[in-house]
Amino acid sequence: MIKIEEKVSLRNLNTFGVEAVAERFAVIHKDSDLDELYREGAADSVALILGGGSNVLLLSDIPGLTLLNRLEGIRVEAETDDRVLISAMGGVIWHDLVLWTLRHNFGGLENLSLIPGTAGAAPIQNIGAYGVELKMVFEKLEAFELKTGKRVSFNAAECRFGYRDSIFKHMDRNRFLIARIWLSLSKRNHQLHLEYGAIRQMLSENGITHPTVQDVSRAVTAIRQSKLPDPEKIGNAGSFFKNPEVTVAEAERLKAAFPELVHFPGADGRIKLSAGWLIEQCGWKGRRVGDAGCYDKQALVLVNWADAVGEDILALSTLIRRDVRAKFGVDLQPEINIV
Ligand SMILES: Cc1cc2nc3c(=O)[nH]c(=O)nc-3n(C[C@H](O)[C@H](O)[C@H](O)COP(=O)(O)OP(=O)(O)OC[C@H]3O[C@@H](n4cnc5c(N)ncnc54)[C@H](O)[C@@H]3O)c2cc1C
Repeated sequence: MIKIEEKVSLRNLNTFGVEAVAERFAVIHKDSDLDELYREGAADSVALILGGGSNVLLLSDIPGLTLLNRLEGIRVEAETDDRVLISAMGGVIWHDLVLWTLRHNFGGLENLSLIPGTAGAAPIQNIGAYGVELKMVFEKLEAFELKTGKRVSFNAAECRFGYRDSIFKHMDRNRFLIARIWLSLSKRNHQLHLEYGAIRQMLSENGITHPTVQDVSRAVTAIRQSKLPDPEKIGNAGSFFKNPEVTVAEAERLKAAFPELVHFPGADGRIKLSAGWLIEQCGWKGRRVGDAGCYDKQALVLVNWADAVGEDILALSTLIRRDVRAKFGVDLQPEINIV
């Protein structure tokens, strides 16, 4: 029997560490819990699905039912000499999944090491880091449609992955619970992604000239640990904003006014600007307003220094957006899910 609790604090279940109380709360441990929820009519009242809570900003208490996804299990589904198809249940901790693939010497997830959260949330924003995005290894997912009790399969094209984006960010966020994902990984001749200078530098500092997938994972882990605040110690949800994409003409206008502008090639011939750099230029890096702050080692990360509530962090983000718009004419969009 699935247990539904009342008035449960979500403070330890979101990495910002902000307080919000779920009116009702249940943990999903096995696939059949979802069918049971549906049969009992409880699925209709789902107001929030939580995995690791590492990409949400909770603004207030959550009415209705909050589901915590703890569906467990990883397995090999099919393999050839060169490739392997694996599946992971949605509640598997993402980094545990990465470590599992590395233990089996499977390649594809090494650059995505140490991203917090769960496997089931990974498709939602097509998680990405150091030149790799989930979509590069993604095969399909199975989602449980809460209102109908049906299981629906989505392949990569149907997920419409984009930069920190998928179809799931553009529909009712409580329509589907992503229960399982399938990934296609390499078993040999791994295609390493070492384009990011920091990875190359870390490998060469350690005297590694022919890196393995495990070496790349260790390098990525070390880089991340040196730059990003550990949510166990300082509340945060990683990058608060997306890097904005602008037209070539817009980028030229900005470069003329700000020759130091940090930019990269974006999708569809557009130019991606470094949101962290834009924020830093507005003097926000390291500043705080009450307990809400802009992290001193990475301006893109907003932090909860102690007892900030969701509204405090949202208010800080509004000030930052206002200043970036005033100085550069660029509108920053949140990467995180504001609930
Ligand atoms: C320190 C730090 C560093 C980070 N670095 C990166 C990075 O490099 N790259 C990157 O892409 N992200 C990064 N993130 C963001 C975050 O880790 C990812 O977005 C992650 O995939 C979120 O997983 P989660 O389980 O915590 O999702 P949650 O925060 O629990 O949920 C995120 C959203 O997905 C929904 N959701 C969650 N699980 C499910 C499910 N099973 N079915 C349907 N909906 C669901 C929620 O309702 C919510 O809207 C970082 C976060 C932190 C704190």
